[in-house]
Amino acid sequence: MPLTHLAQSDAEVFSAIGNELGRQRGSIELIASENFVSLAVMEAVGSVLTNKYAEGLPGHRYYGGCWAVDAVEDLARERVKKLFGCNFANVQPHSGAQANYAAEFAFANPGDVVMGMDLSNGGHLTHGSPANYSGKLFNMVAYGLDPATERIDYDDVAAKAEQYKPTLIIAGASAYPRIIDFERFAQIAHDNGAKLMVDMAHIAGLVATGAHPSPLPWADVVTSTTHKTLRGTRGGIILWNDEAYTKALNSAVFPGSQGGPLEHVIAGKAVAFGEALQPEFATYIDQVCVNAKALGRGMESRGLRMVTGGTDNHLLLVDLTTAGEVTGRDAERALDEVGITVNKNTIPGEKRSPFVTSGIRVGSAAMTTRGFDEAEAERIGQLIGDVVSHLGDEAVLGAVKAEVAQLLDAHPLYPELG
Ligand SMILES: *Cc1c(COP(=O)(O)O)cnc(C)c1O
Repeated sequence: MPLTHLAQSDAEVFSAIGNELGRQRGSIELIASENFVSLAVMEAVGSVLTNKYAEGLPGHRYYGGCWAVDAVEDLARERVKKLFGCNFANVQPHSGAQANYAAEFAFANPGDVVMGMDLSNGGHLTHGSPANYSGKLFNMVAYGLDPATERIDYDDVAAKAEQYKPTLIIAGASAYPRIIDFERFAQIAHDNGAKLMVDMAHIAGLVATGAHPSPLPWADVVTSTTHKTLRGTRGGIILWNDEAYTKALNSAVFPGSQGGPLEHVIAGKAVAFGEALQPEFATYIDQVCVNAKALGRGMESRGLRMVTGGTDNHLLLVDLTTAGEVTGRDAERALDEVGITVNKNTIPGEKRSPFVTSGIRVGSAAMTTRGFDEAEAERIGQLIGDVVSHLGDEAVLGAVKAEVAQLLDAHPLYPELG
């Protein structure tokens, strides 16, 4: 969108947005939680729907004049239920964290025992970090990975569930490159009188197309973001199958934890769900998975070790301890300099602080949207390896930067935006 009105009325914000477009165009985006939405999604989010108050649910609002936004929210709910094959949906959570807050409070009370994956092993803040409400309000028990396989230690989950008898078990992760066995999680939870919440924020796009097994046949409740592999506007959703949970989940969103829903954002979600229902989206997700494996092959060819030995999904966790004393922070900075954006990340058995770390996380969702293919992904993996092993070597870094610029030129981002 040309943003002509903004340019005239607010040069400062206009210029900052222009800078961000330039930044997005100017680097290979490998942050595993990011993606590029369509112009149609952006138009919906930038629409007049931002003006409307609509507390409540479609057909049961606390405000008049809701017939048009009711239709928008119903479209979003119907499409997301079709996409994931479930009976009920709430599309109002403002973000993934808000969806988790509501789902956790629908099933657990402050002081209850709740189990979640340890943050340093790939879990999320909202799964029980002491810095987050979840760690402050619930009595959290963390499970983790088997140090030998670096995969979820299901026996550890089962033993802890038996010992602590949690009200709720949370499955799902932000930095886990392998398939998660939701059926096993459900069995452990239900054997011990707990409910299972699956947070599929990262893998929702893969679940939508069948590239990752769905949690919906097993979990009591499923939460997600809409902006990672699902490639929609920034936001959250809650999905479930059992009508008995409907009142608790809906009222945990409103009035439990939010006020008026963001109907412009819900419109963006509806558009993105419509896109994800098209056959092209399955082709896209297949390419995301192919590209993630190719990135891994490229990095391995330069001597870097992939945690768990590879990936089943859209992301890789890279162990830099095999690359000398390079920290995640140093690697992130050096890659930034050549036009490759990643984030530092803790690795299993991490010995450094979360601000330094011994790893990086690399994802293929955004670069695949931009159009990079398998061969280019493998080459980008090699370039990452070259940067990490040549920190401070201006000749090598200069050559990588020039090649990155060529790769970017071959795949222009948002050419319609001028
Ligand atoms: C990204 C993420 C979230 C949080 O999403 P926000 O929209 O940033 O609040 C929650 N859970 C998991 C597993 C995530 O990866």
